[in-house]
Amino acid sequence: MTERLVVIGGDATGMSAASQARRRRSADELEIVAFERGRHTSYSACGIPYWIGGDTTGDALIARTPDEHRAHDIDVRLATEAIEVDPAAGRVRTRDADGREEWTGYDHLVIATGAVPVRPSIPGIDADGVHGVQTLDDGEAVLHGLGGAGVRRAVVVGGGYIGVEMAEALLRHGLDVTLVDRAEQPMTTLDPDMGRLVRVALEGLGVRVVSGVTVSAVLTGDDGRVRAVATDEDEYPADIVVLGIGVRPGTELARAAGLPLGAHGGLLTDRAMRVPGTERIWAGGDCVEVLNLVSGALQHIALGTHANKHGRIIGTNIGGGYATFPGVVGTAVSKVCDVELARTGLLEAQARAAGLEFVTAVIESTTRAGYYPDAATMTVKMLAERGTGRLLGVQIIGREGAAKRVDIAAVALTAGMTVGQMVDLDLGYAPPFSPVWDPVLVAARKAADAVAADIRKS
Ligand SMILES: Cc1cc2nc3c(=O)[nH]c(=O)nc-3n(C[C@H](O)[C@H](O)[C@H](O)COP(=O)(O)OP(=O)(O)OC[C@H]3O[C@@H](n4cnc5c(N)ncnc54)[C@H](O)[C@@H]3O)c2cc1C
Repeated sequence: MTERLVVIGGDATGMSAASQARRRRSADELEIVAFERGRHTSYSACGIPYWIGGDTTGDALIARTPDEHRAHDIDVRLATEAIEVDPAAGRVRTRDADGREEWTGYDHLVIATGAVPVRPSIPGIDADGVHGVQTLDDGEAVLHGLGGAGVRRAVVVGGGYIGVEMAEALLRHGLDVTLVDRAEQPMTTLDPDMGRLVRVALEGLGVRVVSGVTVSAVLTGDDGRVRAVATDEDEYPADIVVLGIGVRPGTELARAAGLPLGAHGGLLTDRAMRVPGTERIWAGGDCVEVLNLVSGALQHIALGTHANKHGRIIGTNIGGGYATFPGVVGTAVSKVCDVELARTGLLEAQARAAGLEFVTAVIESTTRAGYYPDAATMTVKMLAERGTGRLLGVQIIGREGAAKRVDIAAVALTAGMTVGQMVDLDLGYAPPFSPVWDPVLVAARKAADAVAADIRKS
């Protein structure tokens, strides 16, 4: 008998799951129906800032169109929103663009509804000229807005990675950019001392950084268009406003269906990405919580890396194979102009929250041998557990070639290495690529010394 897989959400997780299941099971064995409320499938939201900044095109961000999926016998239904899941009966209610509602039964259900951007409920938030950057339609709207006459000043609300990437994109359009953030330093995914370096870098690029303030309203002109962003303390003139305040898991459907949610509002799953307490409901990507392998705690981390892996694992399992997702170590990279930012593992606050005691080491080195052309400074911060020396986290800020070095630390974290063991890693060296002691190894050496000194002291 032909089974039916229903997928809710047609992007990274949903379509990876559908494609992987299709690779393993033919259309005779498995019918696949994917509901997507938007107009696109398999698009890269990650590329939106670079599209807006002029590095690429919007079309290039679509990895697989609905028709390409349909050619693989995946029945993609666009502009169709899932509005109810009925786990007891094994069916999903949908509403299409004409308002028609329909129930579709499933043998397997994949919930891949992603995340919902945070939009503060303040006066003027829906004014003309205020944009989110979650979907390709958002990207188009920003580009359209930037093409308007007299658009000179931009305010970015939120100093996370989307905020700083959008600050770069807007700078590249020649705008005066102000970045407003509630935290004391931008990039709260880094420790404040490293965030301060991001602030210095942003200011060096000409971005006005206003931190420690809360946006209280978006002010509009007589034409209803944005004219300024107001905080508790001041007003910042704006012809365009971009919101990058963060996201929360998109789990309204799951919550209403009585499926288990974690403390961060994300769906819970087991290692196979199956929702506990159900036989045939799977979930992944930005709508679920993931296990942090360093802290042992569940977290909500909205990243494409995990979303694509989750989809592949779900599709493998539905397709009759067996795959699991062990968890994450918290690795992320970003950049603003030529300044690269990276982190993996735990920040100081996260380590404390996990009850871990630690020592830190901060070093400055260069991306290439100091004498080699274009060698640029990079800062590495490393956290190691007191006593054991186990690596707990690494943060990096620097110029070209700095950020992806964090992957060395991600591997070390996954392997449970100590900073002392890291010192012995046989990394590649030649002057165009690194100093003879790679900056990550220099940091590991200093962290190992700090661990030893701490042991001697206690
Ligand atoms: C501007 C930006 C930059 C980013 N940069 C990076 C980066 O550099 N690196 C990185 O790792 N990650 C990055 N991300 C995050 C990454 O894009 C997401 O983690 C990834 O897209 C999550 O995939 P997903 O399938 O879980 O959810 P989504 O990609 O959000 O897809 C969910 C889909 O479900 C649809 N949907 C939701 N509810 C329903 C419903 N009820 N019925 C029908 N359809 C529904 C939505 O329309 C959406 O298409 C970025 C995100 C943004 C917005």
